[in-house]
Amino acid sequence: MRTIADHDFAGQKALIRVDFNVPLTDDFQVADDTRIRGALPTINKILADGGSVILMSHLGRPKAREEKFSLQHIVSHLSDKLGRPVAFASDCVGAEAEEKAAALQTGEVLLLENLRYHDAEKAGDKDFAQQLAKLGDVYVNDAFGTAHRAHASTAVIADYFETGKKMFGHLMANEVENGNKVLHDSASPFTAILGGAKVSDKITIITNLLNKADNIIIGGGMAYTFFAAQGGQVGNSLVEQEKLDTAKDILEQAHKKGVNLYLPVDSVCADNFAADANTQTCASDAIPDGWMGLDVGPEAREAFKKVISQSKTLLWNGPMGVFEMDAFAEGTKFIAQAVAEATQKGAYSLVGGGDSVSAVNKMGVADQVSYVSTGGGAMLEFLEGKELPGIKAIAD
Ligand code: AMP
Repeated sequence: MRTIADHDFAGQKALIRVDFNVPLTDDFQVADDTRIRGALPTINKILADGGSVILMSHLGRPKAREEKFSLQHIVSHLSDKLGRPVAFASDCVGAEAEEKAAALQTGEVLLLENLRYHDAEKAGDKDFAQQLAKLGDVYVNDAFGTAHRAHASTAVIADYFETGKKMFGHLMANEVENGNKVLHDSASPFTAILGGAKVSDKITIITNLLNKADNIIIGGGMAYTFFAAQGGQVGNSLVEQEKLDTAKDILEQAHKKGVNLYLPVDSVCADNFAADANTQTCASDAIPDGWMGLDVGPEAREAFKKVISQSKTLLWNGPMGVFEMDAFAEGTKFIAQAVAEATQKGAYSLVGGGDSVSAVNKMGVADQVSYVSTGGGAMLEFLEGKELPGIKAIAD
């Protein structure tokens, strides 16, 4: 894996694919600059070497050239963070971008307009990728969040740079290193904690983890498909009828492979999917009609915590309940705390994929786990064992 750490950028123009897909306020101010801050180490290293920087990103899902998706909105914020001016090209390809890129001097930064103003970006169009490639001497990919997409700027573009002139940025390298640590270099016992709504979203990751983990904890809505598959009564809980056989198969596979699969013995049940619903704690396989499990119960939390505290490697993906509502956030909060405590005792912990990241942020323990992935879908696919196009393109 070639990373920017191995390269001296003096006198070179680095074309960097970053993920500046940041949320904006109604008056187009940056509402959360986590992703911009995430890219700073890469940009600063290149500038410190004596290179110059051309930044390209997407923002949102524009249908056409919609003003609200213009990257112009982030120029002043980025300039503040970098402590230097940031030039802007109103199109990511074409004469203006080429002239501005050609004129860049050492230490200067140019931001290109939204890549997704061109359909060719998502289509992975070769000509478009080649036009982008013309702008830089070296290609750096630091956009892990889009690494699972074979888009022009994330994958196809790499074909237009020779070996030694395409590499991972710091953020991307970190994500890959941490993902690999869990998948290929985990200290035992390795416990995967999986939650979220649906089994169907997580089948591939569970199947892959059956070959790697010692323990798999299953919480969240998807647990009820497993209870239903074993003949349990789950009331109105979320159940994917068409996945009952899959759930049975996963339980059998786990048994065969000697993987301990833990389901929540009890649940916080509600008589309505609402923050102010009546609640009671029930055994998860004996939920009365008209009630639904919306969080893991107190006994389940303690059982999960015991497994977590004895683990050396922890992977957490997906909340334990409907954590967006305070009444059903306790299980997720408890597990977040347990993962943080285990980390303090020396375990390695990776939190990745979608809602689990917002969960650790909401629970305030993001800085108490070993690594929080910035890539939702990308990390999920990575952990499923898939080869991500954005990684493959520069790893070759
Ligand atoms: P995912 O994107 O797969 O991680 O799923 C996250 C979503 O699952 C969140 O919006 C949670 O509210 C939801 N969820 C978690 N537990 C349950 C449950 N027991 N019943 C229904 N939805 C749930």
